[in-house]
Amino acid sequence: MTQTTQMMQTQTVLGQMIARVADDEQYRRWAGQVERAGHCVRPVQLAGSAVTVNTGTGEVEATYTSRDEPGGVLLVACKDRRESVCPPCAARYRADAWHVFAGGVTRAGLADGHGDDDGDDGPDDGHDGGHDGGPAGSPMVLATFTAPSFGAVHAARDGKVCRAARGRRERTCEHGRPLSCPARHAAGDGMVGAPLCVDCADLAGQVLWNAHVGELWRRTVIYVYRALAALAPAVGGQPVTVRGVRQLLRLSYAKVAEFQKRGVVHLHVLARLDGVCPDDPDRVVPAPAWAGTDLLTAALMHAAGRVSVALPVVDARTLAVARWGTQLDVRPVAPRQVDAARVAGYLAKYATKTVSDSVSGLPASRPADGGADLAQTRTLPAHVAALTQTVRRLARLATCRTLRLGRHVHTLGFRGHVTSKSRRYSTTFAALRQARRAWRLAQRHRADDPWAHGTGPDSAEPDGARAVVGDWRIAGIGYRTLGDRVWAEVLGREHRQARQAQRLGLTT
Ligand SMILES: [Zn+2]
Ligand SMILES: [Zn+2]
Ligand SMILES: [Zn+2]
Repeated sequence: MTQTTQMMQTQTVLGQMIARVADDEQYRRWAGQVERAGHCVRPVQLAGSAVTVNTGTGEVEATYTSRDEPGGVLLVACKDRRESVCPPCAARYRADAWHVFAGGVTRAGLADGHGDDDGDDGPDDGHDGGHDGGPAGSPMVLATFTAPSFGAVHAARDGKVCRAARGRRERTCEHGRPLSCPARHAAGDGMVGAPLCVDCADLAGQVLWNAHVGELWRRTVIYVYRALAALAPAVGGQPVTVRGVRQLLRLSYAKVAEFQKRGVVHLHVLARLDGVCPDDPDRVVPAPAWAGTDLLTAALMHAAGRVSVALPVVDARTLAVARWGTQLDVRPVAPRQVDAARVAGYLAKYATKTVSDSVSGLPASRPADGGADLAQTRTLPAHVAALTQTVRRLARLATCRTLRLGRHVHTLGFRGHVTSKSRRYSTTFAALRQARRAWRLAQRHRADDPWAHGTGPDSAEPDGARAVVGDWRIAGIGYRTLGDRVWAEVLGREHRQARQAQRLGLTT
């Protein structure tokens, strides 16, 4: 870009910014929208209208149209969980994830405040459908399920040599590449995670493993119940069948998938062993006294060591059966605030990461062409480029057709959700959103505020007596001008500073 065009652009942005504040009333409304959208960096522009109808009387209680808004559109947050796509929305998602994870450890699931929570019921309590916390006395662990090796890779070892040579003569693989590496890689080194020999590495096996990690977990849960049945007599004193054990114990969990630098998925799982209430299967009750942390740990270890998934046949040298790696890390989690805060923070951090944060060069979302050109990207490390090509090669094979790998090139074959949980683990993201809406409704203060009447585009029905009928279409994505975007960033920064000052007890 030449200096002149750069200057002209700056002038245009300044002009847009001045135009935005020219009319006080219009600016106030627009800034209100930006705040409502949580200072999202690429909000959805909605055009349309809504009415709130009293279902008892048929009377229209409130009407709203976006025509009254600045530019004729309403801005709604993009709600993307990924830090690399929209930092403010990711921050909100991370906060929600924190509540979901922590909610399973303590009963503070919906209480406001992070980490410094004092255990009081927050304003949101009561909107969670009653599944907001793990009962005291249920054993809980944080387990990390790893992938097996798909060939030796370069590693950062705290200043130590990557791979020491064995013997005096340097040994090489069948492709003539050395089997050792004298380098001392730093953690940020682009080499870390790359195979010593890309031809020796089982890239197809790695892609297939990523593609089946969801199924491997699903079967692991089944195996955990088998293991519980096998181990229960030793602690409970009575023999019990697999069916019988499901009437006594329930495994609840929340999990987050994390990509390692070598481009393979790990699962971080918060697992809790609950009891079962025979009269009300939805109730979360403490596990019987004989089912403690040791039993849960042993059952997870037992299951992880035995479970497997047969992989589609690709060729003779590709991995045929997916199993967990031999490193299974299981740590007990106490049902205390401090432990809840620690593990929830740990998992919530991963929840907003994408494969692109761990594996350099990959895009945060699926490219328009599905990833066909990824291998040509110059910033992509050679082994990652080779992995994307492997996904595309496998996607064309008849044996892999049902995996729809063509849609998962940018995630190196991983097809699942980054964050998921079992139904009764804790409160849900939906419950948190609903609690937030209820909070907004309770705070109705502006007559022209569509959300105050429950007619906003993402409003839930305000209560059983009213129905919202809306007609919305997407008018665009992002801010209309670069000037608006700059203002939104400024407003977001001011908002964060004000909140921080509030937290520190300073008045603003
Ligand atoms: Zn956003
Ligand atoms: Zn190395
Ligand atoms: Zn080799």
